[in-house]
Amino acid sequence: MPAQRKLFVTTALPYANGNFHIGHIMEYIQADIWVRHQRMQGSQVHFVCADDAHGAPIMIAAEKAGKSPQQFVADIAAGRKPYLDGFHIAFDNWHSTDAPENHELAQQIYRDLKANGLVSSKVIEQFFDPAKNMFLPDRFIKGECPNCHAKDQYGDNCEVCSKVYSPTDLINPYSALSGATPVLKSSEHFFFKLSDPRCMAFLKEWTRAEGRLQTEVLNKISEWLEPDETGKSALGDWDISRDAPYFGIEIPDAPGKYFYVWLDAPVGYLASLKNYLGKIGVDYDKFIADPDVEQYHFIGKDIITFHTLFWPAMLHFSGRKVPNKVFVHGFLTVNNGEKMSKSRGTGLDPLKYLSLGMNPEWLRYYLAAKLSGRNEDIDFNPEDFMARVNSDLIGKFVNIASRAVKFVPGGKLTAATAEPGELALVENVKAMYEARDYGRALRDIMAYADKVNLRFDSAAPWKLVKEGQAAEAAAVCSLCLESFKIMTACLKPVLPALAAQAEAFLQCAPLDWSNAAVPLGEGHQVGDYKHLMQRVDVKQLDALFEPAADAEPVPTAPGGEELAPVISIDDFARIDLRIAKIVNCETVEGSTKLLRMTLDVGEGKTRNVFSGIASAYKPEELIGKLTVMVANLAPRKMKFGISEGMVLAASHADEKANPGIYVMNPWPGAEPGMRVR
Ligand SMILES: [Zn+2]
Repeated sequence: MPAQRKLFVTTALPYANGNFHIGHIMEYIQADIWVRHQRMQGSQVHFVCADDAHGAPIMIAAEKAGKSPQQFVADIAAGRKPYLDGFHIAFDNWHSTDAPENHELAQQIYRDLKANGLVSSKVIEQFFDPAKNMFLPDRFIKGECPNCHAKDQYGDNCEVCSKVYSPTDLINPYSALSGATPVLKSSEHFFFKLSDPRCMAFLKEWTRAEGRLQTEVLNKISEWLEPDETGKSALGDWDISRDAPYFGIEIPDAPGKYFYVWLDAPVGYLASLKNYLGKIGVDYDKFIADPDVEQYHFIGKDIITFHTLFWPAMLHFSGRKVPNKVFVHGFLTVNNGEKMSKSRGTGLDPLKYLSLGMNPEWLRYYLAAKLSGRNEDIDFNPEDFMARVNSDLIGKFVNIASRAVKFVPGGKLTAATAEPGELALVENVKAMYEARDYGRALRDIMAYADKVNLRFDSAAPWKLVKEGQAAEAAAVCSLCLESFKIMTACLKPVLPALAAQAEAFLQCAPLDWSNAAVPLGEGHQVGDYKHLMQRVDVKQLDALFEPAADAEPVPTAPGGEELAPVISIDDFARIDLRIAKIVNCETVEGSTKLLRMTLDVGEGKTRNVFSGIASAYKPEELIGKLTVMVANLAPRKMKFGISEGMVLAASHADEKANPGIYVMNPWPGAEPGMRVR
């Protein structure tokens, strides 16, 4: 038995100026699968992340929103949980780079670098907005392109002719914040001396260490590690300071100067770890000084230089542990790389996916099937998604359990043995997870599933039973259930919720790599089979890629409805709105307008409610969905029965001319009985 590994794993810190998009979710799923695999082999893992909270874009966005940057970032952070819980992404800790641990650690690292002679300063000239009284980041300076004379181009490059230039080259520059003409102003800046020969020597050695970086990543950064034609380091010194006003961390002994956001952002990995270890009573300094602790970062290909050059150099020259490996992934495109755009509806909105009742493990399975250990882009293709989930995951894996258990009387296994190939399968799959080659792992598991299904079909247990050979049918089906158990273990890092359900059905101990290939054994009793997973419905995919409603042109005059008279908060509190689950829904004989709903509002009994929405919904579309109801409305006797409440729906004022009824549907996470306030 190898000694238990101790791992510290992170994903890149998302910038806290917006909600997660599908690219974030892909990275988190990739890392989460790896972490779950590690835990299945008994490794101790601390898996952490944080919001990247600092920098000018957040400061400016907060001001626009009329909030303090702290409040702005806190509001973004509050919205993270439904995504992470929804896709079974099990970080141990979520923190913020504006937290005290990060202020302290970033300042310590800076002091250590300075003491090591790797911080310099020089006065530079920059554009300054005299109206806003602040230095302008390149992205907030606009003007005429000096090359093609296109108007309103950014300070760093022209979007029309792609020319790259410096902001001072722009013709008639202006501040994108105030419109004022910027003036050149000089200021002292601090630099991390990456051009120091010690940095180059260290980075050459660190990046080229066996297995440290993917080959394609090493190739990409190698230009920075060779001297240029003048013999000087290609890696220039890195400007790590910004002038007040700036939302960030103050530089020690330099009043009015702040760390550039990219200096303190990766320090947030350590800050989140420190915060987490504090919560579980582990000494951070001792943990991070332990040479056996392995440090891994999952990142996207857009931030390679920060993580493979700047960050390891910061850590090494401040006397800290350096990352063991940096795992780089490509981008996720949707529909053959078509550029994502909300109005064209080609994006894949993660919360919309969940709100449509789509199973998060479909997406985990699909992304895993496409991911390899290489830095390459992958594409989400709706037809491919449906085929892989319905034919492979459900058709080959899930269904074998329901087909086989029928022929095992009382669920008691009559024969049970591991075949020689099965231990090898488990070992292979384990190695592929370790190498993040999830696509190959799933291909091997599905090839094994094909063999299991073939064994089942050629034995034809339904025939055996008819021919009076029930014992033979039970034996072959017992073997199929053993195989189902092995496949469940192999898929567990990708499908944690399904694996938990399957373990409950199999009545076995939690599966891991040590027991995956150990047979349940003759006489083992499995439980009642409950359906494990629904198929993808093409209608869900259509709905997922329908253009967002907020991208439609806003209707002008018609549809406008005058506001009702003002009420007090107490008036509103008298209306008891509750989350209700539509447990059943049916048409009402004799009415074309009404649907009869059976609602669960968490009272231990259901309610009967009639709703005039038959023109807009089919009953089966609503069953199982959550909605919002007025729960304290006096019961009303109607022609068809008593209605015990009212379901909320939106419609235009002039319903005849402008039809359309939209039933309220809460975001994922809401539960029947919760009050809406
Ligand atoms: Zn241009």
